[in-house]
Amino acid sequence: MVYDVVILGSGPAGLTAAIYTARARRSTLVLAGSAVGGQVALTYAVENYPGFPEGVSGAELARLMQEQAERFGAQVEIDEATAVDLGQRPFRVTAYGGEHQARSLIIATGASPRKLGVPGEQEFTGRGVSYCATCDGFFYREKDVAVVGGGNSAVEEALYLTRFARRVYLIHRRRQLRADAIVQERALANDKITCLWERTVAEILGQQTVTGVRLCRCDSDEQEELAVDGVFIYIGMVPNTQLFAGQLELNPWGYIVTDAAQHTSVPGVFAAGDVQELYLPQVATAVGSGARAAMEADKYLAEEEHRAHPPRLRQEEETV
Ligand code: NAP
Repeated sequence: MVYDVVILGSGPAGLTAAIYTARARRSTLVLAGSAVGGQVALTYAVENYPGFPEGVSGAELARLMQEQAERFGAQVEIDEATAVDLGQRPFRVTAYGGEHQARSLIIATGASPRKLGVPGEQEFTGRGVSYCATCDGFFYREKDVAVVGGGNSAVEEALYLTRFARRVYLIHRRRQLRADAIVQERALANDKITCLWERTVAEILGQQTVTGVRLCRCDSDEQEELAVDGVFIYIGMVPNTQLFAGQLELNPWGYIVTDAAQHTSVPGVFAAGDVQELYLPQVATAVGSGARAAMEADKYLAEEEHRAHPPRLRQEEETV
């Protein structure tokens, strides 16, 4: 089957795009990835998405978006694209479950957590090193944990971890947090959180599991060891664009370059959400760019159909 639209990714951008293309009566396949919802589904609470005055869990928000897309006929599959060929029409998308053809493509593959790149990080991932407090926080009841980073993710997740942990060390390389003021205020007022300023993690220590971190002080060569049972790393994101390298224009940081209407460098291919958002990677902006990408895909398909069947020819066909 050749789909009108194949959407790669099922975060807020991908699912919003699916709601719009399915409502436009375009056959729509969403390749969701390994789970539906993308990053937001791993977020404990979303407080700044309009319409939910009490906040909403990221998983619930993703579930509602999926339900809405499916209600209009979008097909959402838990499967991951392993290759795309943008040199052929229709476009070819290879996934673990088989090959799909697409007249248009919306890329909403999001971004993944940036790695620290220090000894011990890879070795202890899943054994004390985590990038998801919502997934793993529960395992640290009455234990001591470290959170690395100073942005919204690090500070919000440090706050979340105080539900379980005895002590949360927030390790930041500067003396000033990057997180929103309201989030900072909550963290600084929480007596379970200890901020360790102007420090970076040089090594994650452990045997079977994590036992601590070796820290470097940024203002001197001094090093110190801190005993912790878990390390949660939140130092920003890296866009998931490996499949498109050499086929689409990417910026120097690897994000897909789009114009203001979500067009990429290849006609018929659109991008939305964190995979192209440099300035404000939020649910609200992902939803906006997803909607725009979908409407542009619909317009692109309509123009293609118009070229294939110009109205005058159709009139002649009707007469015959
Ligand atoms: P971010 O805002 O880019 O912050 C990354 C943090 O990690 C910064 O504090 C940075 O330090 C630090 N960092 C980067 N590389 C490092 C390294 N190698 N070693 C040590 N520290 C390092 O990333 P984020 O927190 O993942 O957030 C990503 C985007 O999503 C942001 O725009 C954020 O506002 C948004 N977000 C919003 C919400 C919300 O609105 N509720 C929640 C989560 C995320 P410096 O400060 O020194 O650069």
